[in-house]
Amino acid sequence: MSQPLKSVDQHLQDILALAKPLEPFAMPLLEAHGTTLAVDVRSSVALPPWDNSAMDGFAVRAAEIFPERPMEVAGEVAAGDAESSVLPLGKVMRIMTGAPIPEGCDAVIPVEWSREEAGLIFFEKSPAYGAHIRKMGSDINVGDLILTAGTQLNATHIGAAAAIGIDSLITRPHPRVVLISTGDELVEPGLALKHGQIYDANSWLLTTATREAGAIAYRVGAVPDDEEKFMQVLEDQLVRADLIVTSGGVSQGIYDTVKNVLGKLGSVTFESVAMQPGMPQGYGLVGPDSTPIITLPGNPVSAYVSFELFVRPMIKALLGVHDLERPIVDATVVEPLKSPLGKRSFLRGRASFEKGGFVVAPVAGQGSHMLGGLSQANALIIVNEEIESIAAGSQVKVMLLGRN
Ligand code: AMP
Ligand code: MG
Repeated sequence: MSQPLKSVDQHLQDILALAKPLEPFAMPLLEAHGTTLAVDVRSSVALPPWDNSAMDGFAVRAAEIFPERPMEVAGEVAAGDAESSVLPLGKVMRIMTGAPIPEGCDAVIPVEWSREEAGLIFFEKSPAYGAHIRKMGSDINVGDLILTAGTQLNATHIGAAAAIGIDSLITRPHPRVVLISTGDELVEPGLALKHGQIYDANSWLLTTATREAGAIAYRVGAVPDDEEKFMQVLEDQLVRADLIVTSGGVSQGIYDTVKNVLGKLGSVTFESVAMQPGMPQGYGLVGPDSTPIITLPGNPVSAYVSFELFVRPMIKALLGVHDLERPIVDATVVEPLKSPLGKRSFLRGRASFEKGGFVVAPVAGQGSHMLGGLSQANALIIVNEEIESIAAGSQVKVMLLGRN
């Protein structure tokens, strides 16, 4: 009797249990971009650091301003003026956006509300008390939590760090992932194919998907179905890997090298996972540093779907990111769907946001070897194990793949 299949959720948990986030260290801001913050960041300064003007205009005492009352200009303050200034009683000062508010000033009147005649300034109306003054600390106060540990740093985070005077951040580095494809039939793109050969798609697909997940990817071209050669490549690659990902050679064939050779080590487990595509899967630890390895099936769509379900979350875990998984949304499916009982299906779909919510259609070409269909897809339609068919117009769960 065949073994019961392992659930997708259990397989993901088992893989994530192998993840040890990389050690953090201080990185200059531009290098920190895209890495994950390891500690909370609080501000040691207030922003703005002092009251300043939000407009180009006039610094005034609100109580002194009446419509059509002529006012004398006592001087000007610009952004970057180092000396603090005082607004003399009964006068106004020209002020520029970002300039420090002079002592005594309690409102700024925009230049558009003023008129100049014979060197005197006339205002249309009296300003509200505090108008157009950006108060010290109104954006950020000393001690405020600005960035939280576990955040993958984007441009706005880097900008906020710079604004509070921080020039480096304690982050975890990008994990290094080695991608190895296996198969005697595989040929590098650009070369001529002989009968029986195909181009190696997986190492390219998985290398770029790895980069998109935020890791450094090292592509190793195809390795033949030869136990010794495979082990040699694996051993050579271990020095530069925080994670190894292979494709091919994990099903029931005689030449399924990856399974044959790693199966003997005892530290890598091969299982059948209740999913379609991508049933044969393996994971474990290899080499002197117990480097995690994930072995994906060879069919390109199986390899890619498995990457999304297991490898991408593993990369996020190595990065130390809190949010490991892609967003899953509800969508209305426009065509009927079929799915095998007992397996969770991940059909390739095109999702779009229409008035009223997401709509999704399966792409043409759902075979696990069909890269043409895969390259049209921007979503995976998830059909649970107990469901065999879904009618057009039903609500389904859809994983958005973050692409157009
Ligand atoms: P395997 O898991 O090695 O039995 O491979 C399953 C199927 O996927 C076979 O048809 C292989 O030729 C194909 N395949 C395996 N690796 C790749 C690859 N790197 N690029 C394209 N197709 C592949
Ligand atoms: Mg093979």
